[in-house]
Amino acid sequence: MSHTKRHVSRPLPGPDWVVQDVRSYDYWRRGADDCAACGVDVALDESHYGMELLRHRPARAEGKLGLERERFVFCSRECVDAWSH
Ligand SMILES: [Zn+2]
Repeated sequence: MSHTKRHVSRPLPGPDWVVQDVRSYDYWRRGADDCAACGVDVALDESHYGMELLRHRPARAEGKLGLERERFVFCSRECVDAWSH
């Protein structure tokens, strides 16, 4: 397997998103995700940083009131800081 992979950081979410929680996890679930800052594969069943973001759905969105939830994964504290600033 030698497909090239683009390492693109995820854009900062809009101002209506609120960072709920950022902390290190030893285990979250099985599987992997890309670091939102540098794009490396992050094993979610090993130590990593996870960021929870929430936003209130706009009231005009067809009766779907409630919270939207997003989770970003980071390989290191440095990446959390780099992405947040
Ligand atoms: Zn990273």
